[in-house]
Amino acid sequence: EHDTQVTFADVAGIDDVKGELTEIVSFLKNKAWYARLGAHVPKGTLLVGPPGTGKTLVAKAIAGEAAVPFFSISGSEFVEMFVGVGAARVRDLFDQARQAAPCIIFIDELDALGKMRGVGSFGGNDEKEQTLNQLLAELDGFDPREGVVLLAATNRPEVLDPALLRAGRFDRQILIDRPDRKGRLAILKVHLHKIIYKDDLDCERIAEITPGLTGADLANLVNEAAIVATRRSSQWVELQDFTAAVERLVAGIERKGSVLRSDERQVVAYHEMGHALAASSLPAMDLVHKVSIIPRAAGSLGYTLQRPTDDRYLISTQMLRDRLVVLMAGRAAEHLVFGQVSTGAADDLGRATDIARQLVTRFGMSPVLGQAVLERQQAGYLGDLLLRQERKDYSEQTAREIDLAVRGLLEEAYGRARALLEQRRNDLDAGARLLLAKETITPEEFPALQPQANEPATYVLVDATK
Ligand code: ADP
Ligand code: MG
Ligand code: ZN
Repeated sequence: EHDTQVTFADVAGIDDVKGELTEIVSFLKNKAWYARLGAHVPKGTLLVGPPGTGKTLVAKAIAGEAAVPFFSISGSEFVEMFVGVGAARVRDLFDQARQAAPCIIFIDELDALGKMRGVGSFGGNDEKEQTLNQLLAELDGFDPREGVVLLAATNRPEVLDPALLRAGRFDRQILIDRPDRKGRLAILKVHLHKIIYKDDLDCERIAEITPGLTGADLANLVNEAAIVATRRSSQWVELQDFTAAVERLVAGIERKGSVLRSDERQVVAYHEMGHALAASSLPAMDLVHKVSIIPRAAGSLGYTLQRPTDDRYLISTQMLRDRLVVLMAGRAAEHLVFGQVSTGAADDLGRATDIARQLVTRFGMSPVLGQAVLERQQAGYLGDLLLRQERKDYSEQTAREIDLAVRGLLEEAYGRARALLEQRRNDLDAGARLLLAKETITPEEFPALQPQANEPATYVLVDATK
């Protein structure tokens, strides 16, 4: 495509990543200016996010803004190809792009092409592997100073072959998430231009009743509302048409599990706020970056993002124990407020158990079991399948002691989480309320999330050098 006809004006609700996108545009426009000091844009940028959040749209908008040609190909197109054709197509694509530089190459649905090799396909799919290898070779072979910007999109980053994400390949990720209320309002406004609506249409209200919907859902919603209005022979589209359309649309989406009932949202809000307040109370923990009750792709109902202050290579016992408290605090908040717990903490508990177990069996941090390393990870190969095996060097008796030690650590962490939240109950209530209203909040918006020194820090450095 020579002109994608899409600009940033067509993409709404992506303010938090706009800076990074603008940088790519400015590189494409002023290649020479960047090259002056030897700088070049990162080779490959991966847009990650659930389906319908506007990844393809964003890629086109970058090309549109920079007014450069847009070469696009979808990973799923390769799946059906004959042996050798896929690899040739990739080579061809990169050759063409080089001649057209500055330009953008966009690989949509990268996961269809870049699935981990050797997993689930014993000796199968040679074709895909050849294509992927060709892509890796092209990635390594091209010089970003030529002015070709490589973008790819995926909604399943976890299945990608790690080779694709290595430095010098797709080593930069931009997260395009489901929009929060403010984002939905902005997206609605983009799409409302296409229909005739009543002047005083309450867009805020529409944004309010559509949590969990993506940009694509909202575009669809606007169209559905126009259909509803047409059916009742109205001269314009009104709020009632939107509410009717939302009900229909949400009924469809609810089955896919991405829209929460309001009582569930309450539980999730307290759960996430529990994690976030615990993290902010423990000085050894990373800063809280963002708390959200917007459902994510991988089946989670909300999330708390922490931002590491420094790279860490050594982790102290204190940090690991505090990490356990943060993980336990989601469930502790639920229990404190609602008097019962939910399945929502299953993932937290799994991670906490792993940490507690490693603390005991790999890092020699349990006073009871002492400094012995009881389990080690070993990598073994079976065909081209990488196997992670645990080697266990202990008796039945020790196994029981390990179980007890792990359980003790988890109980202790849960107790600390609970005490901490009881102490900060007011912040918990206020935070959950704010979260329900705004869906995502940052420490700037809710200062209680900024670091609080409620518990003294004791750093006990343990040499876990790897
Ligand atoms: P993805 O590639 O992430 O699955 P698309 O880019 O294909 O999503 O989005 C599908 C359509 O949904 C777009 O063409 C656009 O009409 C609408 N859409 C999605 N996200 C946005 C957004 N942030 N702003 C405006 N429209 C959007
Ligand atoms: Mg897409
Ligand atoms: Zn949790």
